[in-house]
Amino acid sequence: MNFKEKKSLELGRVYLVGAGPGDIGLITLKGIECIKIADVIIYDRLINTRLLDYKKKNCETIYVGKKSSNHTIPQEKINNIIAQKAKEGKIVVRLKGGDPYVFGRGGEEGELLYDEGIEFEIVPGVSSAIGGLSYAGIPVTHRDFASSFHIVTGHAKKDNNLDINWRALAEEKATVVFLMGIGNIEYISKMLISNGKDPNTPVAFVSWATRYNQKTITTSLKDAKKCVDKNNITAPSLFVLGGVVSLTEKLGFFERKKMFGKTVLVTRTRSKNSKLREKLEKNGARVIEIATILINEKENYQEIIVDKIKAKKYDCLAFTSSHSAEYFFEAMKEKRLDSRCLANTLIASIGSATTETIEKYGLFPDIEAKEFSGKGLAKSIVSYKIDSLSEANSKHKIVIDRVLFPCSEIASTTFEDALENFNIDVDRVEIYENKINYPIKEELINSLKNEKVDYITFTSSSTFNNTLELIGNENIHLLENIKKVSIGDITSETIEKSGLKVDMQSKIATIDSMIETIFDDIK
Ligand code: SAH
Repeated sequence: MNFKEKKSLELGRVYLVGAGPGDIGLITLKGIECIKIADVIIYDRLINTRLLDYKKKNCETIYVGKKSSNHTIPQEKINNIIAQKAKEGKIVVRLKGGDPYVFGRGGEEGELLYDEGIEFEIVPGVSSAIGGLSYAGIPVTHRDFASSFHIVTGHAKKDNNLDINWRALAEEKATVVFLMGIGNIEYISKMLISNGKDPNTPVAFVSWATRYNQKTITTSLKDAKKCVDKNNITAPSLFVLGGVVSLTEKLGFFERKKMFGKTVLVTRTRSKNSKLREKLEKNGARVIEIATILINEKENYQEIIVDKIKAKKYDCLAFTSSHSAEYFFEAMKEKRLDSRCLANTLIASIGSATTETIEKYGLFPDIEAKEFSGKGLAKSIVSYKIDSLSEANSKHKIVIDRVLFPCSEIASTTFEDALENFNIDVDRVEIYENKINYPIKEELINSLKNEKVDYITFTSSSTFNNTLELIGNENIHLLENIKKVSIGDITSETIEKSGLKVDMQSKIATIDSMIETIFDDIK
């Protein structure tokens, strides 16, 4: 049976997708689309595993990189897994580092799929051999230095029998990039020199290109082996030689980034789409994100919300967290309750992040707290009420007598207490649980112990309290030498109560301001 005949069979489809060299942003749009629709993702060691955050809920993931025993899964076995999953009618994504056809054995996988009559597509990726070098400030071609480039494997199929025309490589005025070459560096440099390459040709090693731990080291061809030993250079690394290497000082933008080489531990609530992480990473930081809080909606909360809105007319709806706004409006959406039923209800928000969430639903808060606290929001609501009752505004008298307050089960009562002093009635509805994320305990302690963390950020009192609870009193000293960054007064107070020092506090209680605070410290 040939491919066309077999095509009619009820088989799945396979996408061989290049994930790029490591920076999560270097995958293609099409690559992300494939990850989103995949039923199964089979991935390698060199891909950025955060790409898997884009998969759908019930997608199966299979790791085929080096196992703990340090053995790679034989290619044949990988091929079988791909074919078998596709034959089950599944959409299979084979996710590979860099480009699937650049020493990625993508060709072999494609051939097998053809033979098996399974439909497939290739989604090219940014190869480390080109993109990785760019991040090290080494353009593969340049009119002054190289009119061609060669990408060569430094790893022989059979022992030390590299099928390479050394003379041609040595003679070309070219950029030569070796992948998988570190283990064979002595042989490679010897062969190049003995075939006529100038021993003083500039060379560079680029390890973990495009990642937070990228490292570029330059030397000359004759000293390549010495350089590997001295600097303990290991895989994955690129070995590149040619005049273009001299440009790294000028063009090496990545290692010059403001936060390059710094590690920030972010103690967040959720791990996806974190603005703080994104911004820090864009500036070159390594971000370890640990969700110290587990958020879950309360049972039947949607019905409760809907009944409240329908039954009783509230004058104002108040939110003291993004989560409460999100859960509230999602409930309305889910229950098909039209936003117009809030037409005569004022909306009050505790700060810019919460406001941003509310605005996503096409509603714009009337009141935003001047101080980032429950008490601060209460004050702003009271002044809004007083202003609207003042003579100048008497035509538009606004009544604020009853406030609906959807919140977390651990929200403090300062908001209600403050408003009730002014005879404003608050209906507190706890719509989500806020629990300590115990399963990440070990990960948190290990990160603090082993990862040379420079900064740790706390965006609320509960992120701090949970961190403390998770690491335990016996480990509190682990936080001492890390710069603690707090989002505002209340969080700082909570930190200081534990006896620890707050090293930096954000000028205003926003993520952007928090990042600025860290930048100022680095300056
Ligand atoms: N298909 C991949 C290459 C796979 S071979 C691509 O197109 O990039 C694996 C080798 O690629 C590694 O041994 C190393 O030499 C190189 N490599 C891959 N990713 C790298 C990275 N981020 N930094 C440095 N070298 C990398």
